[in-house]
Amino acid sequence: MTDILLNTSSCKSIIHCGDGAFVKYAPLLGGQKFLVTDTNVNAIYGKLIKEYFVGCGLYVLPAGEKSKTFRYLSDILAAMADAELNRSCTVIAFGGGVVGDIAGLAASLYMRGVNAVQIPTTLLSQVDSSVGGKTAVDFKNIKNLVGTFYQPSEVIVDPLFLKTLPPREIRCGLGEIIKYAALDKVVYSKLLKEANIFSLDFLGSIVPDCIRHKVRVVSVDERDVNGIRKTLNLGHTTGHAAELYYRRKSHGEFVLIGMYYELHIAEKLKIGDVKYYAELRRLIERAVKIPVYADIEKAAGLAKMDKKNTGESISLVVPTSEGESTELKLSFDEYVRLLKEVNQ
Ligand code: ADP
Ligand code: ZN
Repeated sequence: MTDILLNTSSCKSIIHCGDGAFVKYAPLLGGQKFLVTDTNVNAIYGKLIKEYFVGCGLYVLPAGEKSKTFRYLSDILAAMADAELNRSCTVIAFGGGVVGDIAGLAASLYMRGVNAVQIPTTLLSQVDSSVGGKTAVDFKNIKNLVGTFYQPSEVIVDPLFLKTLPPREIRCGLGEIIKYAALDKVVYSKLLKEANIFSLDFLGSIVPDCIRHKVRVVSVDERDVNGIRKTLNLGHTTGHAAELYYRRKSHGEFVLIGMYYELHIAEKLKIGDVKYYAELRRLIERAVKIPVYADIEKAAGLAKMDKKNTGESISLVVPTSEGESTELKLSFDEYVRLLKEVNQ
């Protein structure tokens, strides 16, 4: 079992990681509790929830990104008020990123903020969204448009929950893990040495390394203002644009596709180490099949909306050498020209 501490100017969070973390730490959560989960997670872990959170208020969200709305946020807050929660209560998010984002937002709003605990059950939420305090709902068809920065006091990361995850969700989380590999030497060398990067034992063992990286970043740029937290968006400019345009694959797979294209762009611009780029691309290809997109320029149009951009230019975070990355700013026309070249 590993404990990782996150210290920011606004708070201290403790992140418990390891097999059995749930059974060890869930019973220690005291006081009035209110748990938010989703229908899929409740179908699998409902009994466990009842056993470990006796008498606790419960809200079950319909599974899926479509539930990350004001309507459900308002419903959760209403259920919290009906349960007569007081200011010293704890809101527990038990599920993937959707549950974590909306329950975290509800915790940050109820009575101007009550204690929040995250128990992430997907690989993606374990390595990424449950740590760092970003909460949100989608609004006006824009993902995460409305939200807060609100750190959970505790995060309980138990890889045993990954045993019930569908393969698609494993691949999705693996996408973000390979993103960490491009940012962090430890994650990189462990992935290179591992014969089966899909094995749950391996994935469970690398989760704390990814969290350690994220904690280091968030502790120096909690509110995403000085450019450091932006590095966590590596691969996401092109990846997110392709995700919006082509859909179908999971977020993590699109991050990998985005990284793959952006590595080629960085190579054409002679930014970083060519041998290292080739190694990273081989790693990506072990996790996802890279499609050749004929209409990539149409997808690229959606990169104009990316939140990292300033003014007219497109911003890409690209690796340069092991553990190092940089931000590239390209005009939209140059970005599209380079993307098309990658496809040739
Ligand atoms: P993410 O964590 O990828 O951001 P979601 O919160 O939508 O996104 O979770 C992805 C899907 O996985 C949802 O359908 C959710 O109900 C389901 N899910 C979450 N945790 C588990 C689990 N441990 N086992 C099986 N399915 C799960
Ligand atoms: Zn992501």
